[in-house]
Amino acid sequence: MAQAHKLDCEAAAAECRFIIQSEDEAEVIELAKRHMWDVHGQDYTDEELRSKHLKIV
Ligand SMILES: [Zn+2]
Repeated sequence: MAQAHKLDCEAAAAECRFIIQSEDEAEVIELAKRHMWDVHGQDYTDEELRSKHLKIV
């Protein structure tokens, strides 16, 4: 089974239950960036998301 990339927003914002999981890393980053901006008003770079918030599952 292929590895998937997962972002669990709860790690960044304790009260948020938003989770993205996909085999396509670019898709996870794109959706995560939009969520962080729209919901939390935080602007992350691709690299910040990749290194700090994405997990391989
Ligand atoms: Zn969130």
